[in-house]
Amino acid sequence: MKKIVIIGGGIAGLAAAYRIQKEISEGAALECVLLEGGDRFGGKIATERSDGFVIERGPDSFISQKPAAIQLCQQLGLGGHLVSTNPGAPNTYVYTGGKLVTMPDGLSLMIPTKFLPFAFTPLFSLSGKIRMAFDLLIPRKDDESDESLASFVRRRMGEEALRKMAEPMLAGIYASDPETMSIGSTFPMFVETERKYRSLILGMLARKKAMLLNASKRPKSNYSLFMTLKDGLGEMVEAVINKSPDIQFQSGARVESIAGKEDDWSVRLEGGGEQKADALILATPGHITARFLQTVTPKAAELLKQIKYVSTATVTIAYKKEGFSHALDGFGFVVPKCEGRSILACTWTSSKFPHRAPDGHVMLRCYLGGALQEDIAEKDEETMANLVKQDLKEIMGVTEEPVFCKVFHNRKSNVQYQVNHSQRIDTIMQELQKGLFLAGSAYRGIGIPDCIQSGTQSAESAIELLLGKSKAET
Ligand SMILES: Cc1cc2nc3c(=O)[nH]c(=O)nc-3n(C[C@H](O)[C@H](O)[C@H](O)COP(=O)(O)OP(=O)(O)OC[C@H]3O[C@@H](n4cnc5c(N)ncnc54)[C@H](O)[C@@H]3O)c2cc1C
Repeated sequence: MKKIVIIGGGIAGLAAAYRIQKEISEGAALECVLLEGGDRFGGKIATERSDGFVIERGPDSFISQKPAAIQLCQQLGLGGHLVSTNPGAPNTYVYTGGKLVTMPDGLSLMIPTKFLPFAFTPLFSLSGKIRMAFDLLIPRKDDESDESLASFVRRRMGEEALRKMAEPMLAGIYASDPETMSIGSTFPMFVETERKYRSLILGMLARKKAMLLNASKRPKSNYSLFMTLKDGLGEMVEAVINKSPDIQFQSGARVESIAGKEDDWSVRLEGGGEQKADALILATPGHITARFLQTVTPKAAELLKQIKYVSTATVTIAYKKEGFSHALDGFGFVVPKCEGRSILACTWTSSKFPHRAPDGHVMLRCYLGGALQEDIAEKDEETMANLVKQDLKEIMGVTEEPVFCKVFHNRKSNVQYQVNHSQRIDTIMQELQKGLFLAGSAYRGIGIPDCIQSGTQSAESAIELLLGKSKAET
């Protein structure tokens, strides 16, 4: 019987395991072991449940426009647990000039698509608005090379759009420095829009029109842009394990090295122990995978080492609802770096996903660190908790004592897609030996749906190699 070993039990490794389970359930003669170095599965996904609170240490939701996560939840029988964002509180704020200012209506990922809200918003100065409108006239880039998010936004919409929108909203999603992050690997739709329509504003308006036309033909989607699970994203992790009875899930199995070629691989565990395999799926973070590949594919290992990771932290803080000093009338706010705060972003969790806090309480989640202020995410828990309380007092006027304040470090956890990332990944994939497959956030998408898709694809490629089954037949 052919054997596949998956290394890494984050969502990418778990999605690979679940795909292999489906193949086994349909009668394929396959054996599969998943080796996880930590004492629990899920990797960056880690949900804590206590006293009616659902607290996410890492990711808290996923985008519904990329279908892989919703599809996986449905296959796992979790369709009924999918939760949309609260339609009653859709505002998002930007902290600017010492105030929380509502993001103007019609702003589609920083591109204005409605004239009046944009014209009257106090978020941008008059000169900033005029510079953004220059996008309507500026010619398209004359070559196809990659560039940084900062260079792209500065070129098309100006410095103010970069500082007040692109840096906190777009680079913030990646906890990245806009001056070094690749626009092509993080927001390819902007590059495509410029290529196709020249102007981002005209392109977004054309897309909006097409979407409205299509929407009248398609049934209405039940999903909001961001979705989560009722009892936290950990539900997905638990369900994959429960629904994959033929996969051997081993935690506390930290891999030290791999060796072999083609269909003859061996995996050495720290502290002794070995697993033989016909194919290997490496679903570990890039720098760990680089270590495994050092002896078998040194060029790929060197390129993988160039992929940088930065530290972030999340601070979840809950209060009694009665007498709470802020209306929490929205999803939360983002903070541009020039405002000089510790918090990068704050989600008003109990407004965005009301089921996450029990009746009588509100809960907020703050995001700190990232490429622009990594030192903050390296501080001890007490210092970080105090920095958050200070910021919440000065930004939102919150002075109440919290019911709890939980700080979670995510050390060197957030992968950075820097300029020319996708070329680097293409070369790594070309260098890989037969029988080796890579999955996870280091490659072609950091979001949960991307990682699920990457894990599923790596499993399909391994199955095809071992059983000669093409994806089309499955
Ligand atoms: C703070 C934070 C917030 C985020 N928020 C969101 C969000 O809201 N929405 C979203 O879509 N995405 C979000 N992301 C991104 C997303 O969570 C990750 O990209 C994704 O979960 C990564 O999954 P993965 O399987 O590739 O890697 P990981 O989750 O890192 O899994 C890798 C696994 O490999 C294991 N491992 C490491 N070394 C070894 C070894 N030697 N032997 C065996 N096992 C090993 C690790 O223990 C780990 O379990 C967030 C990320 C972070 C850090």
